[in-house]
Amino acid sequence: MRNLKNEIEFLNKLSNILSGQISPITTISAVNKLFKQHLEINDTEFIMWDNNNMLLKDFIRDNNFYNDEMLAKEINNIYTDLSESKGKSFYFNDSLFDCDFNTEQEYLIKELIVDDNILIFPLISNEEVFGLMRISLDRKVIKKDFFELLNISSKLISGAIINYNLNEQMEISLNFYKAMKDIAKIIESQYELSYIIPLIGEMIDRFMHSHLIYIFIYQEGKYKLVWPGNCKDKKIYSLLKKINLHTDCILSDDSAIGVFPLITEGVILGAVAAYSNIDKLNRQDIDYLIQLTKQSGLTIQRANVYAEVLKYATMDALTGLNNRRQMEVRLNQETANAKRNNMALCLMMLDVDYFKKVNDTYGHTAGDCVLKKVSEIIKNEIREYDIACRYGGEEFLVILPQTNTKEAILVAQRLRKVIENSQIDVRQAGVKKNPLLNVTVSIGVCSFNPVMNSDDLIQKADKALYQAKTTGRNRVIFI
Ligand code: GH3
Ligand code: MG
Ligand code: MG
Repeated sequence: MRNLKNEIEFLNKLSNILSGQISPITTISAVNKLFKQHLEINDTEFIMWDNNNMLLKDFIRDNNFYNDEMLAKEINNIYTDLSESKGKSFYFNDSLFDCDFNTEQEYLIKELIVDDNILIFPLISNEEVFGLMRISLDRKVIKKDFFELLNISSKLISGAIINYNLNEQMEISLNFYKAMKDIAKIIESQYELSYIIPLIGEMIDRFMHSHLIYIFIYQEGKYKLVWPGNCKDKKIYSLLKKINLHTDCILSDDSAIGVFPLITEGVILGAVAAYSNIDKLNRQDIDYLIQLTKQSGLTIQRANVYAEVLKYATMDALTGLNNRRQMEVRLNQETANAKRNNMALCLMMLDVDYFKKVNDTYGHTAGDCVLKKVSEIIKNEIREYDIACRYGGEEFLVILPQTNTKEAILVAQRLRKVIENSQIDVRQAGVKKNPLLNVTVSIGVCSFNPVMNSDDLIQKADKALYQAKTTGRNRVIFI
């Protein structure tokens, strides 16, 4: 007698597990447990092929990467049989049966009386087999209702896996478009190659979880690693040698490593490399990486154009302060003015403490946020006729006309304290955990006298800043 109540209870439990949308590993182990409890099954395994490589000998079993040639061969054969029947058959021990079996076949199954029985059901989507459910049981007789329950289960599990994969797929494409947009947007704040390249590296790296990303620049006939710190893998270098203007990707024999040339205006500028020692790059990864590299090439090309234009401009693109070139012009004017009119003039050189750590911990984009915020504070804290400039990466100069030493030190102290007490929000740089940062600055202050020129003044401020750094940072030193 069929126990319908039990069957319904079982299917309800299975649906609950599958609708949980947790990771496949958790789902699969919960299904395994349910099968054990309700159907007296010894063990259930799920065998899934590695993405697009349906006939490879590697496959994922129980969500572990698996490599067993004998078993792989057997499984591949079963897979081929089940595929040919478009998922409408199943395996019982070594025989193939039609899922819509009739009583005669049922009889056959009843006759199979062995101890260790293996039932294999296809996992299917649109009549395509994408995996197998392999069940071992020591039941001697299999009845039709038991079989049907497993057959329905395999369909439900197929649906849940497809659903999960679709969601994951959607998230991957969303992340891809975000990475494309982020790379295009770099140009809004940066135009110097030495900053753009690490940013590109970070953005591609954030997108490609399975692989390490390296960025190389092609110079004097060689590929030089520019991001991140080091790359010891020789295979990457031998792949890089194969790059020419007409390739958009070169893969290692095992597809675990790929290099993608960065080309702008028909010139090879460098390459992006994706490296792993186990994970293969599938077709989709490769397409994504080709596109991201092309986008990076475009960004670099635009950056070069911007850099050319900005050479003649006065403003620093990231912070909106005067750029270094403009600083030189203004400092020459102000020293000449002070000399002529015998007026006081001070210079302040400011450098963010341990800024490299901010970049390393939170990423360059967060580092940029910090630089913007520090610039904003500087602008707010100085008088209208003081001149704030971005001197270099995280170094700033403030020219203080008609300001004596005492006043200059006061301004510097105030500035130092305001920065120390500011919380800098780096959420917009994608930092989710502890997005409020605190930074400090060291400041060197010096005053002008008529025997000096502007270079002397900068050197003196630099010396004072150096002292502030070596005596503990987050302080103002006047010399
Ligand atoms: P110290 O306290 O001695 O000044 O240490 P530090 O880490 O601040 O100094 P260091 O000179 O070692 O590092 C400065 C870092 O600033 C290195 C460079 O990558 C980074 N940097 C320079 N310009 C920019 C920029 O425009 N944006 C970002 N995010 N980082 C930059
Ligand atoms: Mg610094
Ligand atoms: Mg510095």
